[in-house]
Amino acid sequence: MTESIYPMLDVEAALDIVLAQIVLPDPERIPLAAARNRILAETVYATSPLPPFPASVKDGYAVVAADGPGEFPIIGEVTAGRVADFVVKPGTVAYITTGAPLPAGADAVVMVEETAMVASPAHGQQASAPTVHIRARVTAGADVRPIGYDVAVGQEVLPAGARLGPAEVGLLATVGVAQVAVYPAPRVAILSSGDELVEAGAPLGPGQIHDSNRPTLAAAVAALGGVVVDLGIAGDAQASLAAAVARGLEEADILLTSGGVSMGNLDLIKPLLDSIGVVHFGRLRMKPGKPCTFATVARKGRRRLVFGLPGNPVSSLVTFYLLGAPALRKLAGWENPRLTRVQVCLGEPLRLDPYRPEYHRATVRWEASLHEGRGALLADSTGNQASSRLLSMRSANALLELPQREGVLPAGAIVTALLIGEIL
Ligand code: AMP
Ligand code: MG
Repeated sequence: MTESIYPMLDVEAALDIVLAQIVLPDPERIPLAAARNRILAETVYATSPLPPFPASVKDGYAVVAADGPGEFPIIGEVTAGRVADFVVKPGTVAYITTGAPLPAGADAVVMVEETAMVASPAHGQQASAPTVHIRARVTAGADVRPIGYDVAVGQEVLPAGARLGPAEVGLLATVGVAQVAVYPAPRVAILSSGDELVEAGAPLGPGQIHDSNRPTLAAAVAALGGVVVDLGIAGDAQASLAAAVARGLEEADILLTSGGVSMGNLDLIKPLLDSIGVVHFGRLRMKPGKPCTFATVARKGRRRLVFGLPGNPVSSLVTFYLLGAPALRKLAGWENPRLTRVQVCLGEPLRLDPYRPEYHRATVRWEASLHEGRGALLADSTGNQASSRLLSMRSANALLELPQREGVLPAGAIVTALLIGEIL
């Protein structure tokens, strides 16, 4: 029996090895509008307060709180973006809108719902100053945001390492940051290998199939914010593989190859990587994706990460999610780059594999009726789990972590799952 020379590694140990190889690149400074989903490389402090002036929280009247309820002449109005050119003296009020600066003299706001207009002069008649009845008694500071209420000067707005989602982008805009230091989007080169592969759109000759791994991996990389470098298809010949791999190492931080890592006599990727770099592992205790290979190669003063993914379409995508995606995230600056793990309830019985832990593809959703109405995540299997059957990844948003064991897990059993997509 021919045995692989590579020891069989647990997936978690393999992931630790991969993540330990990653060195963060220097940050780049980019416009805030382009920074969504990037990781902040510097802590940002507020250099000005928000609000920069005492601001009204309500539409209503700026008052002198000590005046209390009663009827008062309205001596002017101040709307957001304007500054009053008058002073609110005791015994007078001013109309004010939400976000407008509190006029000098006033120390509180009474919302319009707590007031009533008095004796509005009829149209065309001599207008005396309009009067309003203030019904509420308020204390100084009521419905006023003092300077720095939302953001104080010098306050930490975002720590280095923060991921820039919508709120974080907004916070940076709030404090006036237009250019932001973030980690660069990792560049990921993708190569398919195999004499049998032709591009989708081209007619199939005898023995040929369409290359699905490259479009699949390109979509997965792009969804994670990576920049795709397309290396096309290489045939199963040492020279063409070596040339394509060399190009990938030149142009990208991460190189994903698929195919050519099994035990066939045209599986040339492992020896190739071994000849140009360090192969850290070449076999994983998992299903699907056992021959998954990881190497590092030095190029241009940087350590390139190379994943030799298996050729079977499911295996290549599953191993990409388990190892490549966390690597991409860590390189992009994520502090916790691992896939999110949740507990799910099996919707049907699942047979276990006695030889290897299995990453069973499933669609996970919230099911309110589970657990006596408390609700839980329910996992529906995507069906036949053959590693060639890409349909088993269709609409899968989770990889169930099934233990290596004899037997069947019953419907309703609780297992852990790694999320590879949104729970919809
Ligand atoms: P290999 O790892 O090269 O032995 O390939 C394993 C299986 O995956 C074979 O059936 C290949 O034809 C298939 N395969 C390899 N690469 C691709 C690809 N890029 N797209 C679709 N199927 C592939
Ligand atoms: Mg092949």
